[in-house]
Amino acid sequence: CGIIGYIGNRKASEILLKGLKRLEYRGYDSCGIGIIDNNNLIIKKDVGRVEEVAKKEDFLGLNGNVAIGHNRWATHGHVSKENAHPHTDCKAELCIVHNGIISNYKKLKKELISKGHKFKSQTDSEVIVHLIEEELKKYKNPSEEDYINAVKEVSKKLEGSYAILILNKNFPHLLVGLKNESPLILGVKEDECFLGSDISAFLEWTKEIIPLEDGDIVVLRKYNPNNNCNSSKINNKSINNKNNNK
Ligand code: GLU
Repeated sequence: CGIIGYIGNRKASEILLKGLKRLEYRGYDSCGIGIIDNNNLIIKKDVGRVEEVAKKEDFLGLNGNVAIGHNRWATHGHVSKENAHPHTDCKAELCIVHNGIISNYKKLKKELISKGHKFKSQTDSEVIVHLIEEELKKYKNPSEEDYINAVKEVSKKLEGSYAILILNKNFPHLLVGLKNESPLILGVKEDECFLGSDISAFLEWTKEIIPLEDGDIVVLRKYNPNNNCNSSKINNKSINNKNNNK
């Protein structure tokens, strides 16, 4: 199992496809990608090898620059299209990929169902995206800061191991990552960033890496070449640690 995320100005589906193939050695039974294409959130996933799923689902037909991808090694829920990642919330505005195990998912799922959430899969992972959706309901018109705070609040509720990548169609220029006891590495370049389970996922494009620590929340913002106010060519990155506010 392995995950990869990309944010920048290149065609994300190409980067993800190569990255997922490089992560194949970690083992997997299904795969998928979530991508922000023209302010729409599009999910493509299925059971099978990366090459065949990518062809069947036409990964390369998608044109966005912000995306997340997953090779699944099923731990909770059988091998099926519904259980493949990414997972979406009820309104299909958010999507997540998760590597690891959420050990308290049964309790969380019960609470979410009692609040009206409908689950589409049998995975432990799907609770993550519904928890974010639920947390966002606290805000009438959530700002970027509210969204990031919501993710932080959700991270406090999760127990177990996880590397998680999140996309939100209402904040199409953001890619958020969380790490706890599953590997997650940040790769940086002048105007683009990568997140991956291991460096092989994006070594072709950058060797400059920042290994994340347990408790880290990383927020990557897309660099906009047309934004003259921003003289910096570096993606705006911030890493917070929920344990020590680094
Ligand atoms: N526990 C999750 C699932 O079964 C993620 C497995 C993985 O790390 O690939 O879907």
